Amino acid sequence: MTTSTLIPKEVLGVYRPGSAHMVGDGFPVRNLFPSNDLDQAVDPFLLLDYAGPQAFEPTDQPCGVGEHPHRGFETVTIMYQGSVVHRDSAGNAGVIGPGDVQWMTAASGVVHEELHEAVWAKKGGMFRAIQLWVNLPRFKKMSPPAYQTILNADIPNVPLDGGVGRLRVIAGAFQGHKGPARTVTPIELYDLALGAGGRAELPLPNGHNTSVFVLQGLVSVNGAGEAGEAELIVCKRNGSSVVIEARADSRLLILSGQPIGEPIARYGPFVMNTKLELVQAVEDYKAGKMGHLL
Ligand code: MN
Repeated sequence: MTTSTLIPKEVLGVYRPGSAHMVGDGFPVRNLFPSNDLDQAVDPFLLLDYAGPQAFEPTDQPCGVGEHPHRGFETVTIMYQGSVVHRDSAGNAGVIGPGDVQWMTAASGVVHEELHEAVWAKKGGMFRAIQLWVNLPRFKKMSPPAYQTILNADIPNVPLDGGVGRLRVIAGAFQGHKGPARTVTPIELYDLALGAGGRAELPLPNGHNTSVFVLQGLVSVNGAGEAGEAELIVCKRNGSSVVIEARADSRLLILSGQPIGEPIARYGPFVMNTKLELVQAVEDYKAGKMGHLL
């Protein structure tokens, strides 16, 4: 038995999807937030959509979501099954498959499309992904757009003590392994596989908002929140760890970050600090200032 000086973060609550809908015709999502009204508790994260798992029939007309804008934040797409192709008005493009992550910084504004990749769509199959929206602090909302394709092979895959599972470090660090994602504010993003009966203690910075999303399985966090498929356990920011115990083979996404603590103003694909900035975003989009796809 090892002793620990880490202080578990208190569980705020366990949340089920607050809505289920299609994004375009390619992404059948269950939304955990903002539909659960968790802005303060999950800051700097703005949105979590769990797409699938769902089977798609073979087609020559790939499903997805066509040309649309974003301003003021980042979209992060984590692939589990299937394949997505992206291209945007900043001239960036990329394909992500299982284990890959796309980190797209919309910032001052891009127009992009997100489609099932054509070769994958021709064969069809199971599709499963998560899209997160990560907020930007006020001083970065109007910075130039950026784009990172993060391949599975570049994500450290750390075996956990006792052989209970594995943790992939997408952003932040774990046991000295640093994730490849470049983030604007401090963020930890982990893809965790934990076997039935397994227990993992994850140190996370005091003051960071931390949540655990259950893709599959059944877990408890810090002895309190118990959650199953498509549920989210949200912890309070004080404390320095989460202790996860798996009652079944589980696949989890750990999202943690330093709160930005600024006003959030939303309108569809735009997230700014004030209503006036949203009006400006709509005008700029309509005037073509976020560009077009070629
Ligand atoms: Mn988008």
